[in-house]
Amino acid sequence: TPIPDYLVEVLDAVAADASGAVADYIPELAQVDPDQLGVVLATVDGAVYEAGDCAAGFTIQSISKPFVYALALQQRGLEAVLDQVDVEPSGEAFNELSLEKGSGRPLNPMINAGAIVVHTMVGDAQDPQGRCEQVLAGLSAFAGRPLAVDEAAYASESETAFRNYAIANMLRSRDSIVEDPEDVVAAYTRQCSVRVTTRDLALMAATLANGGVHPLSEERVVEEWVARQVMSVMATCGMYDSAGDWISTVGFPAKSGVSGGIIGALPGQLGIAAFSPRLDPHGSSVRGVEVCRRLSADMGLHMMDPP
Ligand code: GLU
Repeated sequence: TPIPDYLVEVLDAVAADASGAVADYIPELAQVDPDQLGVVLATVDGAVYEAGDCAAGFTIQSISKPFVYALALQQRGLEAVLDQVDVEPSGEAFNELSLEKGSGRPLNPMINAGAIVVHTMVGDAQDPQGRCEQVLAGLSAFAGRPLAVDEAAYASESETAFRNYAIANMLRSRDSIVEDPEDVVAAYTRQCSVRVTTRDLALMAATLANGGVHPLSEERVVEEWVARQVMSVMATCGMYDSAGDWISTVGFPAKSGVSGGIIGALPGQLGIAAFSPRLDPHGSSVRGVEVCRRLSADMGLHMMDPP
């Protein structure tokens, strides 16, 4: 079957599954059409295959985390970032209030505690406004087009970000962040509110898979070691408390977000993105996960399979 027809078949196969629920702790996310469903594959040599609602916009949420981690690594170097945020799977939910015993670092950059610290490591510490612009510019470079913040989603999440304030205060108490916790949460929330399409996400993932070079613009966004580090952490920590099940059954680095997006990156091969707003108990898209499972099985994408 040609790939575009195959992708339509995959969407048809999962379309009837209306299980799960849209995230409602962010009021704006509760308003979306829960039936949206899309999938995009982008190869490292620039072929893009799409099916379903792949041009619909939604907020990037936690899928921003691996890319902002990449920006921090690129600017600060591996050691400086590891010094602040470890790379150990937490086995916990995305918004857990926990730090590593002993070192006191957030366990990894894919949970909120780590992502909030990583956000403050981009750009100039004296210039929080400039940093938000750098984060947006960096995410845009990964996507290969100018992205923008969804101001309504940002305002909505800001009103209910109590748990992230708790996390930021905990981080401030041990100087993991040194700015006002409320300002840092506001900036991190703007990062999560950047509006993307499924196509954008597939190209962002393909840029990682392509060693840091965007497959269409051919711009080098980050160096190869950065892409390797980011995909490694996605493989072990990208799916929160289902990371072990994910890597053993689906077998490629991935990251999900509460707006219903999910990405996968196959080093040297392709970027995958799916979108469907209803979430499973781990906070990942029900049908997005199922799409990835099918793609992995049908296309032989498990990285531990012999070539
Ligand atoms: N902005 C969300 C939060 O920090 C992102 C969570 C997610 O996508 O998993 O709560």
